[in-house]
Amino acid sequence: MENKQNKKANCPTFSSKNCTACWACVSACPRKAIGRINLPWHRHAVIFRMKCIGCNRCVEVCSNHCFSRTQR
Ligand code: SF4
Ligand code: SF4
Repeated sequence: MENKQNKKANCPTFSSKNCTACWACVSACPRKAIGRINLPWHRHAVIFRMKCIGCNRCVEVCSNHCFSRTQR
């Protein structure tokens, strides 16, 4: 259980505030851990923390800084 919590702790934090729905993070994620909310009035990425392996590719690829590395 503790390992599982640690693994999740490495998942970047995500804020949709500045998301422009470019979907670069969706393409970059090797675990399909990022999905799309794609409604006309509501478009942004969403992170599925249970699938995330903490590789931080999303952090690197997002030019709007929506993802932040989790400090270990
Ligand atoms: S890369 Fe950034 S701006 Fe683009 S969809 Fe992902 S979170 Fe949003
Ligand atoms: S850290 Fe890696 S696995 Fe997790 S959401 Fe970002 S790109 Fe996907």
